[in-house]
Amino acid sequence: MRYSGLKVITQGLFGNKGWGPAWRNPAPKPEYDAIIIGGGGHGLATAFYLAKNHGLTNIAVLEKGHIGSGNIGRNTTIVRANYVLPGNSEFYSHSLKLWEQMETELNYNVMHSQRGVINLFHSDGQRDAAVRRGNAMINQGDDAELLDREGVRALVPYLDFEQTRFPIYGGLHHKRGGTARHDAVAWGYARGADMRGVDLIQNCEVTGIDIEGGRVVGVQTTRGAIRARKVGMVVAGRSGQVAAMAGMRLPIESHVLQAFVTEGLKPIIDQVVTFGMGHFYISQSDKGGLVFGGDIDFYASYASRGNLPMVEHVMEAGMTLMPMIGRAKVLRSWGGIMDMTPDGSPIIDKTPVEGLFVDAGWNYGGFKAVPASGWCMAHLMATGETHAVASKFRLDRFRTGHLLDEEGTGSQHNLH
Ligand SMILES: Cc1cc2nc3c(=O)[nH]c(=O)nc-3n(C[C@H](O)[C@H](O)[C@H](O)COP(=O)(O)OP(=O)(O)OC[C@H]3O[C@@H](n4cnc5c(N)ncnc54)[C@H](O)[C@@H]3O)c2cc1C
Repeated sequence: MRYSGLKVITQGLFGNKGWGPAWRNPAPKPEYDAIIIGGGGHGLATAFYLAKNHGLTNIAVLEKGHIGSGNIGRNTTIVRANYVLPGNSEFYSHSLKLWEQMETELNYNVMHSQRGVINLFHSDGQRDAAVRRGNAMINQGDDAELLDREGVRALVPYLDFEQTRFPIYGGLHHKRGGTARHDAVAWGYARGADMRGVDLIQNCEVTGIDIEGGRVVGVQTTRGAIRARKVGMVVAGRSGQVAAMAGMRLPIESHVLQAFVTEGLKPIIDQVVTFGMGHFYISQSDKGGLVFGGDIDFYASYASRGNLPMVEHVMEAGMTLMPMIGRAKVLRSWGGIMDMTPDGSPIIDKTPVEGLFVDAGWNYGGFKAVPASGWCMAHLMATGETHAVASKFRLDRFRTGHLLDEEGTGSQHNLH
């Protein structure tokens, strides 16, 4: 069924009885041309673009829970293309362009809102870094505008401009950045893939990867063995565990990242705002809740909820920047498992096992990457060639030492 405004009106008039399920619920077949492990944003986008761009439709996405139950439905939904390093710049630029056409491409309202992202800076050194970043963004063909203190005040007057410890010097404004409804992105790609014939198999955990003579031949699952000569591991925070099923040890640590939402409030925060002197970022959802987050909990874990020290840290940073939020009541907090690489940049690559591919290492920035990751992973799985905009996301950089360290914090997983 094609969704449209007219459909909403006519369905509304006739009791909304005509909506069908957005995707089928098929039983797994014994064999597929390709299997994607993981029904998160990246896995679903990979399946969608395999079908749409490469005409491969005998595909299954195997998801151990339900579609959208992982990080795709747990993030703070920030979408941006404000990277500096060659390798990252062109990839995230490509991704933002795909975001801008996503709703038309998927015929699905993902509530993509280009409300702008303002990264604040609080010293001369940070201003220099913001200028460099802005120039890199403009050179890449994206947008960036340097705001001075008064420029920031005009857009976000509720910040604490009087405090002297971390004075606000200005901000880098990325107007095409913004937010989207995270689980709608999963649902949109799921529906789009299903419509093209992809089988989405939920409650199907992969428990083993079958390899014969150095090539992948299928997977073992909680719903039986399934054969395939191409398998993509797209499992975010579980990447280390799934790769271990193929005898691989990935350069990934799994860490928890928490997020928070307040009660619904009248519209107050129009953009995404990030603090430059503490790990804190905030936006307001369409329901009115203030959605915010901070740094990862500083130890490796597979728990999908966090601990109180980081809660305190995030609240303190928020109160420092905008004391008014102290009056809002926090409704919920939650956590997700992040696949952290030593340099903070991702991996889209073949593995030493023929036919086995990996898409992982998205750290805490993988939501914005969903469309381009799917696009490039599909390209790799279909053609065997790395896509040009993902050419730096290779596994061998951890052996050669040519890291893509955007933040310049050194080779340490929990600092990215
Ligand atoms: C609190 C928080 C805030 C964030 N904020 C942002 C943000 O503002 N902007 C941004 O760009 N990014 C953000 N991120 C990061 C982003 O959400 C992730 O990088 C991205 O969602 C990971 O890719 P995914 O969607 O494919 O992951 P997931 O949705 O986690 O998908 C992986 C799937 O694999 C499945 N799986 C795992 N093991 C198996 C198995 N053995 N068999 C079958 N299935 C398996 C899981 O159940 C899961 O559904 C945030 C993350 C969190 C947790």
